Amino acid sequence: MDEKIRNAGEMVLDSDRVVAFTGAGVSTESGIPDFRSPGGIWDKYDSSEFTYQNFRKDPGAYWKRRLEMREESDFDMADAEPNPAHIAIAELEEMGKLSSVITQNIDTLHEKAGNSEVIKLHGTSAEVKCLECGRKYKSEFAWEKAKGGELPPKCECGGTLKSDTVLFGESLPQDALQRAREEAHNCDLMLVVGSSLVVQPAASIPRMSQRGGAKLCIVNLEPTPMDGGADVAIHGKAGEVLPEIMDFVRQGQKG
Ligand code: NAD
Repeated sequence: MDEKIRNAGEMVLDSDRVVAFTGAGVSTESGIPDFRSPGGIWDKYDSSEFTYQNFRKDPGAYWKRRLEMREESDFDMADAEPNPAHIAIAELEEMGKLSSVITQNIDTLHEKAGNSEVIKLHGTSAEVKCLECGRKYKSEFAWEKAKGGELPPKCECGGTLKSDTVLFGESLPQDALQRAREEAHNCDLMLVVGSSLVVQPAASIPRMSQRGGAKLCIVNLEPTPMDGGADVAIHGKAGEVLPEIMDFVRQGQKG
């Protein structure tokens, strides 16, 4: 067995309070492209279109553009299923090892895999929110209205609906950020999976856990700026690496 997998497995066995910090890379094997890899979303679309400022300037035009993108794509994020990496993280919770998942993803795949404590730093694509009264609806409610020509789709109060995700230039939900900081501070192992660790302030969370005394394990396809300071950094596919770590952990729990 690979030495690094063994090291990571031993860290999990020694730990009582693991926090998983996940980015888009944990979901690519579920068919959802990440932002920055070749073939990722930013190879296809211009990221500067999708700012909060653009949304506020003309919510109707923004929804129209998103609708076009949705119709161009033959894949709907809502149909994606958890892959072996999500399932391994859910198994850590089942074993009583995992305290929470902090995720940058908006795809709800951790919840689908069975995790109950998921801190969503960038919101969720499953819901939309009224900018006037704050009421939330399932996203389908807004998409149906948009498809029928209601641009932007409106709440029953008449307010504009916006996807409950954090756009570029929009601040992160403060309650989620606060909980993430507490979890990072109190964990004994921070397991980063599928994040380039370049988007702030989310990328500072793993560093915070190290300051609190936690070990840091990174699983990512490509090197990250934090690999040098990590206790172990494994470069590979999350859907292959995490099940291998879990095999080791299961053996260790039996023995
Ligand atoms: P990113 O696109 O910056 O980086 C993803 C990282 O994952 C890359 O370093 C890549 O090498 C790695 N990766 C890709 N496939 C992998 C695999 N199979 N196994 C392991 N690693 C893999 O993503 P990020 O750091 O999470 O960037 C943040 C932004 O991306 C967030 O704002 C998030 O909201 C958004 N995003 C979310 C989704 C989603 O919800 N699934 C999809 C795309 C983007």
